[in-house]
Amino acid sequence: MIPQNRIRNFCIIAHIDHGKSTLADRLLEITGTVEKRKMQDQILDSMELEREKGITIKLAPARMNWKKSDTYILNLIDTPGHVDFNYEVSRSLDSVEGAVLLVDATQGVQAQTIGNLYFALEHNLTIIPVLNKIDLPAADIPSCTNELVNLIGCRPEEILLVSGKTGQGVSGLLDAIIERVPSPQGSASKPARAVIFDARYDEYKGVVAYVRVVDGLFGKGDKMHMKATAAESEILELGALRPGYAPTEQLETGQIGYIVTGFKDLSACRVGDTVSLAGSDVPALPGYREVKPMVYAGIFPKEGSTFERLREAIGKLKLSDAALQFEPEHSPALGYGFRVGLLGMLHLEIITERLEREFALDLVVTVPSVVYHIYVSGHEMKVIKSPLEMPDASHIDRIEEPWATVDMVTPKDYIGAVMQLAQERKGIYKTTDFLSDERVILRYEMPLSAVIVDFYDSLKSVSSGYASLNYDLIGYRQADVIRLNILVAEESVEALSMLVYRNEAEKVGRRVLEKLKTSIPKAMFEIKLQAAIGGKIVAAERITPMRKDVTAKLYGGDVTRKNKLLDKQKKGKKKMMAMGVGKVNIPTDAYLNVLKR
Ligand code: GDP
Ligand code: MG
Repeated sequence: MIPQNRIRNFCIIAHIDHGKSTLADRLLEITGTVEKRKMQDQILDSMELEREKGITIKLAPARMNWKKSDTYILNLIDTPGHVDFNYEVSRSLDSVEGAVLLVDATQGVQAQTIGNLYFALEHNLTIIPVLNKIDLPAADIPSCTNELVNLIGCRPEEILLVSGKTGQGVSGLLDAIIERVPSPQGSASKPARAVIFDARYDEYKGVVAYVRVVDGLFGKGDKMHMKATAAESEILELGALRPGYAPTEQLETGQIGYIVTGFKDLSACRVGDTVSLAGSDVPALPGYREVKPMVYAGIFPKEGSTFERLREAIGKLKLSDAALQFEPEHSPALGYGFRVGLLGMLHLEIITERLEREFALDLVVTVPSVVYHIYVSGHEMKVIKSPLEMPDASHIDRIEEPWATVDMVTPKDYIGAVMQLAQERKGIYKTTDFLSDERVILRYEMPLSAVIVDFYDSLKSVSSGYASLNYDLIGYRQADVIRLNILVAEESVEALSMLVYRNEAEKVGRRVLEKLKTSIPKAMFEIKLQAAIGGKIVAAERITPMRKDVTAKLYGGDVTRKNKLLDKQKKGKKKMMAMGVGKVNIPTDAYLNVLKR
């Protein structure tokens, strides 16, 4: 057993693509944890999709040994770099004492570098500043050093220089982790407790909890207790992750490892929850909260016959993704499907891709929306996940929508363009901070709905790709949101109703009607297209009828005859129109043009 003072727990935090996974690979290789010939790139990113997208979605801990006079145990947690998974980042930061703050020396400090840094400081972690990719000719070490010194107030000589690609400087980094990061506190003699910072569903082992032992120790065969869910079970197996399962007899104070729980699904084993031994009455560790979806979208199968397969597939994904929520939804337009709750846009993208790829499903995904809070006079607050749940306007006291702080790092040449974009998206300007002479951090507050739709892409395009973004939810604020109904042939089409800002209703309405106009085929009668708030029409279009030239057979002369025929046609059309009200067949393509992202 290794003494507690020879354990170091740390994570790597970085802006996306700054080289976290690559550095983790080198650490595993240089410590001999994974043999070089077994090394495949980005070994900690195990999901096929993660590897392809080059993003880290799920944390994969790894235990390494490193000799520096004595042998030390280093536990590395690779954290997800995306805001959608901030809660997971937060739980993993709670499980370590130090953070390697990795900055790409060709890019400099970016928005998520800062977001993650603040996060790490809130958790009182020791920060080790590191510049990565120094093998590249474009690496600008002096100006990146300057930015880091300004940002964290460290001395320039504290900043380590590495290349995760070539391995240069990496053994020095391992030494620095041992020197600078404190060993875990916690008492071996206290009753056992551990925090769950991640949980997986393993096909063979069932639910596996990734834990950091805070006090005491856990042994194989012990009966454990989950604080938040009160679930109990026998510990079937436990051990270290190297990064594969390496079973041991026990997990001691300060260690990071895994526990095979015996639970059948993740609902019993929640990230952030405290594990203790059954019967011991230890207090829960702070910081646990239930993750709630931030955005909702409809997911429907393109082929109605694959609905059952979709249900099974989502159920399977849910086993390994506690943040994913879903309930059945029926849309007259798209048939049977699900309303799916997610942490953010990346989460939605990942889920959709996994469904399509791993389960060979063809899907229609509707425009995502945020969760509104509706206060109806004399009633409790109501949570609205879909426009259809919105009560009649006359009953509503007020509506609230989620807001976020948005930090954007940009070269100063683009400040004007970035500010204009933020203003267009209802951003409220807060502060400007200089990162260096060349780059600034702009802080805004913005409705989440404006951030999630395509803000990131727009930000990239107005800044030639240079600006970066980080956002954080701050809470709910009043919003003037109404339900916009779309009427086709005077019949309201439920699937097309949406929640929009009152002052944008007309604009949105017009856009929807234009799309419908080009995708609904003409009929023998005129088709009215309308956008309405309650009974009030705010935009209108019409699809002109097909015109059959009834006068074509008349040669020459008699105007009265021609007029008579046209008159007859008009009457017929009126009759048909009366017949046709509400009977317009809206093709699926028309729905898709409006609903699809
Ligand atoms: P992550 O998003 O922070 O996990 O970043 P990755 O480790 O996936 O790296 C992003 C890209 O940078 C990949 O194409 C890596 O091959 C490349 N990369 C990472 N570290 C280095 C480095 O030290 N030098 C060079 N030249 N490229 C690197
Ligand atoms: Mg990665």
